Amino acid sequence: MDPEAVFLLDLLQTGKNKSPMTEAVRHFDITEWADYARNTVPADQHRQMLSHLQNGCSRCERLKSLLLKFAAICSREATYEIPRAAEAQVKAMIGLAKAPRRSALQRVWASLVYDSVNDLQPVGVRGTHQISRQVLFHAGDYSVDLRFEHEKGSASMVLVGQIANQKTPDETLANLPVILVAGNREVTRSISNTFGEFQLEYVPESDLRLLVPLEAKGQELEVELGKTPQ
Ligand SMILES: [Zn+2]
Repeated sequence: MDPEAVFLLDLLQTGKNKSPMTEAVRHFDITEWADYARNTVPADQHRQMLSHLQNGCSRCERLKSLLLKFAAICSREATYEIPRAAEAQVKAMIGLAKAPRRSALQRVWASLVYDSVNDLQPVGVRGTHQISRQVLFHAGDYSVDLRFEHEKGSASMVLVGQIANQKTPDETLANLPVILVAGNREVTRSISNTFGEFQLEYVPESDLRLLVPLEAKGQELEVELGKTPQ
């Protein structure tokens, strides 16, 4: 395998195996760093991103390096094959293969089966700095477990989730795009790791829905987030 490709895989693996980050710092997501690498972000955002890096964010630095590397690999024509897994992950992450909203996929609506706000003793961290809420949805054979974390004083919300097949727990749910939309507008997207886990960071707004296309099943899970917890 090409050493560059190994490097790329390494970066992806490192990112995947890290425990979900819970701090609610305003990071830039992978699509923003992809645009940065392609030099297509507006000047003021470019400045913000640069200064974020200069403040020493290692997470964003890693994403930036990864995408610059990937851009370089792409531009070097196919002298070798990018490992399929890496290619699929990167494509899904940066939306090169921006899934057209395929009507062919059968929509499967999720229903809420658990919400920690209804509990007397809420699950999760309830410290002075962070507000956490956990909800569980069922959609067809799948369960979607979501934890919302909101740092006091921060405008953004961190959503940590996990998808699982309840009937066939062994089903691999890695590398699935997880897309947050408001109406028809894509807000942000992420990709599930080996364990079906994903993380998104966004600024709450109304009518948020989470879409998880399951191409192999011909289905797309839809989870209404409604008003996200504050
Ligand atoms: Zn960052």
